Amino acid sequence: MPSAVVAGVTVDTRHWIGGRRVASTETFDSVSPIDGTVIARVARGGAAEAAAAVAAARAAFPAWAALSPAERGAILHRVADNVEAHIEQLAQLETADNGSLLRSHRRGVMPRVVLNLRFFADFAIEKLQHPDFETRGHVNHVSWDPAGVAVIITPWNAPLMLATWRIGPALASGDTVVAKPPEWAPLSASYFAELAHEAGLPPGVFNVVQGLGTEAGAALTANPDISRICFTGSVPTAKVIAHAAADNLIPCSFELGGKSPTVILDDADLDLAVDLAIEQYDNAGQVCLAGTRLLVQEGIAEAFASRFAERAAQIRQGDPRDEDTQIGPNIHLRHVERVEGFIERAKADGATVAYGGERNTALGPHYFKPTLIVDAPAGSEILTQEVFGPVLTMQSFATDADGLALANGTEFGLAACVVTGSRSRAKAFTKHLVAGTIWVNCFFVRDLAAPFGGSRKSGVGREGGIWSFDFYADVKNTVYAPNGWTEE
Ligand code: NAD
Repeated sequence: MPSAVVAGVTVDTRHWIGGRRVASTETFDSVSPIDGTVIARVARGGAAEAAAAVAAARAAFPAWAALSPAERGAILHRVADNVEAHIEQLAQLETADNGSLLRSHRRGVMPRVVLNLRFFADFAIEKLQHPDFETRGHVNHVSWDPAGVAVIITPWNAPLMLATWRIGPALASGDTVVAKPPEWAPLSASYFAELAHEAGLPPGVFNVVQGLGTEAGAALTANPDISRICFTGSVPTAKVIAHAAADNLIPCSFELGGKSPTVILDDADLDLAVDLAIEQYDNAGQVCLAGTRLLVQEGIAEAFASRFAERAAQIRQGDPRDEDTQIGPNIHLRHVERVEGFIERAKADGATVAYGGERNTALGPHYFKPTLIVDAPAGSEILTQEVFGPVLTMQSFATDADGLALANGTEFGLAACVVTGSRSRAKAFTKHLVAGTIWVNCFFVRDLAAPFGGSRKSGVGREGGIWSFDFYADVKNTVYAPNGWTEE
C-alpha cells in the first residue's frame, strides 16, 4: 500500500472517494490466478469508507445532475478516450488480476469498456425520448430525471466490463456512482478511477470503495442515502442484498447466475454446433451466459459427441498471456475447490466424467481441465446448479418437446443457444424457451441497445439501451392541461 506495480502498470490500491485517494488501516491481498502470487495489497474498506463514498457521491449529485446530457456526454467521451489510450495497461492489469486471456482483454473486453461509456453517453443525448401523447386533450410528456447515487457491485469474471456497462448509463442518466469492485479482481477499477479523473470527471461523481462484500458491499447496500443498487453476482448474495435494499426501499437490478442450455437439434450443421459448444469453455467456464448444458437430439447425438470430444482434446490450456492459449486458470484456489466439489458430488450421484474432471497440475493449482460430464441422473446437482468452471454436461433427447422441457428444466433463465438448420423450427422452439437472451446458430452476440437480464433466479430487471435508463433514472410523466396558460 498505497500502490503496486502489476505487469508493469502502477496502480494505486486505495479507495477513490470525492476525487482523492483514501487509505484504510487494513488491507486484503490480490492474488494472481496465473501463478498464485500476491500482486497487490488493497485497501479493505468498511462502514466508514462506504459512508464517506456515499456522502461524496451525494454532494456531487446536484451539480452533475444539473448538466445537460450533452455536457455529461462530452465528459464521458473524454473518459472513454483516456480508457482507449490505456487499453494495453488495463488489459495487462486485468489479466494479471483475474487470469482471463490477455488477447481477449486487448481485443474484446477493454474496447467494450470504451463502448460502454460512449454508447450510453450518446443514447442519453440522442435517443432518450418518448413521443408526447394525448389524453382527452391533455399532453403527456415523459422524461428521465437523475435519481441520485447508484451503488454498483460487480463480480470478478469481467470486472471492468461489467462495472462500466452500469457506470456508463448511471452517469449518463445524471446519477453519481459508488462502485464496489470484486475482492478477487479489484485492480482495474482503481486504475479506471485514475483515468476518469484525468479525463475531467468531477470529484465525487465516481467513487470506488475497495473491500470484501460482507464488509464494504454490505455497508454500501444498507446506506439510506443511496438511490439504486445494481448487483451482478451470485443468487445467494442477491438475496442478502435484496433484504438490505428492502429496509430503504431501494430499487435493485440483479444480474445473476445461470445454467443455460446449448440445444442442438437434429438438423443442425454439426461443424457449427461443435464450434458453438466448444465456445462454452471460454474464460475457463467463468461466463454467466455460458450454455454449459449440451442438449443434443438423439439422431445426431453420437456423431456430435465424437466430434466434440476430438475438438475438446485439442483445447490449449495455459498461461493467459500467451497468444495461442484458449483457456487459462480459474480465479482462485477456493473457486477451484468449489469446482472439484461439483465433480466429486456428480460422481457420487452416478454421473461419468467423460474427460477432464481434475486440475491440470502441470500448469499449476489454479488450472482446471476442460471437463465433460455424461450420464448424470435427471435432476442431479451437476445438471441443475451453476458450476462457473470449465465443466459441461451432455444429455440427449428424443423430440423437440423433450428438448424444450430439458432446456427449461432448471430454476435459472439467463440465456440459451439453439442450433438448427430450420428457421421455423427455431421460431417454434425459442417461443417457449425461458431465457433473457437466446442465440440461434450463434453465441455471445451482444448489442448494448438490446435488453439484457435473466428470468427466474437469473435476475431481476433488464439493462441495455432504454432499459438501463429506465432503471438508473427516475422516469417522470408530466401532464399538460389544454388550458389555464398565461402565455409569456
Ligand atoms: P458473489 O455474489 O460472491 O460476489 C459478487 C460481488 O458481490 C462481489 O463484488 C462481492 O464482494 C459482493 N458481495 C458479496 N457479498 C456481499 C454482500 N453481503 N453485500 C454486498 N455485496 C456483496 O459472486 P461472484 O462469485 O463474485 O461472481 C460469480 C457469479 O456472478 C456467478 O453466479 C455468475 O453467473 C454471476 N454473474 C452474472 C452476470 C450477469 O450479467 N448475469 C455476469 C457475470 C457474473
